[in-house]
Amino acid sequence: MANPHEIPSYLKHDALGPWGVYLEQIDRVTPYLGNLARWVETLKRPKRVLIVDVPIERDDGSIAHFEGYRVQHNTSRGPGKGGVRFHQDVTLSEVMALSAWMTVKNAAVNVPYGGAKGGIRVDPKTLSQGELQRMTRRYTSEINIIIGPNKDIPAPDVNTNEQIMAWMMDTYSMNQGSTASGVVTGKPISLGGSLGRHEATGRGVFVVGCEAASRIGMDIKGARLAVQGFGNVGAVAARLFSEAGARVVAVQDHAGTITRPAGLNVMALQAHVAVHGSVTGFPGSEELAARDQFWGVECDILVPAALEQQINESNANRIQAKLILEGANGPTTPAADDMLRDRGVLVVPDVIANAGGVTVSYFEWVQDFSSYFWTEDEINLRLTRIMREAFASVWQLAEEKKVSLRTAAFIVGCTRVLQAREMRGLYP
Ligand code: GLU
Repeated sequence: MANPHEIPSYLKHDALGPWGVYLEQIDRVTPYLGNLARWVETLKRPKRVLIVDVPIERDDGSIAHFEGYRVQHNTSRGPGKGGVRFHQDVTLSEVMALSAWMTVKNAAVNVPYGGAKGGIRVDPKTLSQGELQRMTRRYTSEINIIIGPNKDIPAPDVNTNEQIMAWMMDTYSMNQGSTASGVVTGKPISLGGSLGRHEATGRGVFVVGCEAASRIGMDIKGARLAVQGFGNVGAVAARLFSEAGARVVAVQDHAGTITRPAGLNVMALQAHVAVHGSVTGFPGSEELAARDQFWGVECDILVPAALEQQINESNANRIQAKLILEGANGPTTPAADDMLRDRGVLVVPDVIANAGGVTVSYFEWVQDFSSYFWTEDEINLRLTRIMREAFASVWQLAEEKKVSLRTAAFIVGCTRVLQAREMRGLYP
């Protein structure tokens, strides 16, 4: 007979990858969960994992197959919720970790969702618009059996945007026979999207960044900011910080790293990226020779807003910033967390720092259900309030328990999830 305590095979691999990082974070929070620790294994196993083949006909008539995933990590507190990532390095273990961080994040900011995530292992830059649309639609059809406005609601993530969400919404709706705008969030405004959603993640990073800075006596005015990733999260955060008087002194993207100690003009840089596809070659900036030099740049605030495990043992001790705001999911390894803590660097963890996106996704979903749309001011006010409150309670808990903000955020999030788990009980 199979050992009932044996770990499913797909959970065993990749101990050093994002799923391994997540498991270590769960181990670190477990001693603080009291009697709920009895249920902690729930958090170490995704509820549901779907792997799909996504075949498309390429423009040249050949057939290409892509590997797609949708993982529902937990639905104890509500439907699954989380983005869809198109990237050449997407793996099952990565999507599992990203789905699990959504569970903790949604609970930490108290939006009524579980956690989910999806992805396709593809470099979307290699596809034409037509191929991208066919791949998105086929993927949506394949995961159609587990998504839905009350089941699991995808959203944008790395390399996906409102156009992809429109195709996903349309494909799901065509399969259902009726328009279901609440099946995805991050849609275009004209299809039931929400004002402020596009900026929400970067805005949330900015809001919690201001809260954290004020608590450590750092003035945003004049603070030097370094940003890794200049997409939807990094660029918006950089703009809001620079509007508040900070100097954006370094930006790294997939193509290279640029610096300007006097501060980069973020609006002009965004316009440059729109034309050239990268921050490199921006007039008035200097380019660093090696990517790795980015981590040693003189700055006060560092915003990793790209991929996982960027801040690790190899660079944590070189980081000059006093404050790190995790715009990305999972950018810091547990070993790096410890090194930063020893050096007195404050890390505001992903599950709080980047929760602005899913918070406004929640607003979008609520607006779609009620077919009544709020003003941008209302959205931003409510977003700011939720982010401030979430940050304040995590800060207070961290002080009380003498733990890092990450562990405190995990205590808040995991406690909410496991309380729901316990109240619901096991079925059958
Ligand atoms: N992909 C975003 C995240 O990692 C947003 C998810 C959502 O809005 O559902 O939080």
